[in-house]
Amino acid sequence: MTHDDIAAQAAADFRSQFGRAADGVWSAPGRVNLIGEHTDYNEGFVLPFAIDRRTWAAVGLRDDNTARVTSTFSDDEVEIGLSTVGPEQLEGWSAYPLGIAWALGQNGVELAEQHGFDAHIASDVPVGAGLSSSAAIECAVAIALDERWQLGIDRPTLARVGQLAENEAVGAPTGIMDQSASLLGRRDSAVFLDCRSLRSEIVDLGFAAAGLAIVIIDTKVSHSHATGGYAARRASCEAGAAALGVESLRDVGVADLDRAREIMDDETFRRVRHVVTENARVLATVRTLRESGPLAIGEILDASHVSMRDDFEISVAELDLAVVAAREAGAIGARMTGGGFGGAAIALTPLALIDEVTARVGEAFAQAGYTAPEIFTVTPSDGAKREL
Ligand code: ADP
Ligand code: MG
Repeated sequence: MTHDDIAAQAAADFRSQFGRAADGVWSAPGRVNLIGEHTDYNEGFVLPFAIDRRTWAAVGLRDDNTARVTSTFSDDEVEIGLSTVGPEQLEGWSAYPLGIAWALGQNGVELAEQHGFDAHIASDVPVGAGLSSSAAIECAVAIALDERWQLGIDRPTLARVGQLAENEAVGAPTGIMDQSASLLGRRDSAVFLDCRSLRSEIVDLGFAAAGLAIVIIDTKVSHSHATGGYAARRASCEAGAAALGVESLRDVGVADLDRAREIMDDETFRRVRHVVTENARVLATVRTLRESGPLAIGEILDASHVSMRDDFEISVAELDLAVVAAREAGAIGARMTGGGFGGAAIALTPLALIDEVTARVGEAFAQAGYTAPEIFTVTPSDGAKREL
């Protein structure tokens, strides 16, 4: 189905489920992080882009204070009273869309005085592949409610509302990157985000003009058991910052690494070195894109993968193989993306070599006896917007 078809289908499904027309259909994209991994919670830099996989929310206000949500993803219809909604009542998939209503309340919206709403969700973002289907559903609902409740909240603030919903209503300790990419993304561009000031800039990627595409290699290795590893990495970063006497690793430069090595154990030092050099690589990627274009960023992507594999130790054998096979088949740079311990790798690939990369990675996985990966391309796309 084309995106226009999915939007129209979401409106039709809303009508058959709720017995009236929706007020409108809003959509928000998933995202890929081009570079800058595990830097967001260290108040550093990230460079994600919105992708051409989206989630649609057909939404209509009600005359009472009830909120009801349905999704093509699930058979259950979930209903709550807005004036009493709290994180403790929210569970399962509905915590994402209903958590947005709660988080808007935390942001000063008087939920008891608002119209309730019905919402129906449809999506073509793969769930759990590291492309942030979670931010896509949050941001689609956030812009829909912002418009229908006439709140006029700016997008950086809506990103924080989405993060609050994910942290407190869902209970996932994630940073601000995903919602920022989904809300602020622009066609052919990445979002360069400073996670300390929350200032962002749009950076032209120029992939189309250079004849390049981003190939996603979803290893199908689930990262759902990775919570412990993620928390342990966060703890190491905090320990490293404390040893160096700084508020966060954002305040540490490459020149400080020699001193860091002297005063902490080797493992903590390598965790620190990843974050510090990764921040430098994000800045280098932005500079290189602006000065030389995307063909020149391959080495930086490769270096990022090595740092995640050896220093931060969040890669797995499947991700390492995906990166090596893609590079051998002609990708100009490749790295694992997302939180790690599974999920997907990205390969910046000349259009003429996409089939070669796909075939070589598939063969390499078969030879190693790994589950077949899912391989597809994504295009940097526009952020959240009203569709119908
Ligand atoms: P990711 O963001 O990497 O795709 P997460 O575990 O963060 O993975 O979020 C996936 C969860 O988000 C799903 O398990 C589901 O609860 C919720 N979700 C995502 N998309 C939808 C959808 N279209 N409808 C309902 N729930 C969804
Ligand atoms: Mg997510």
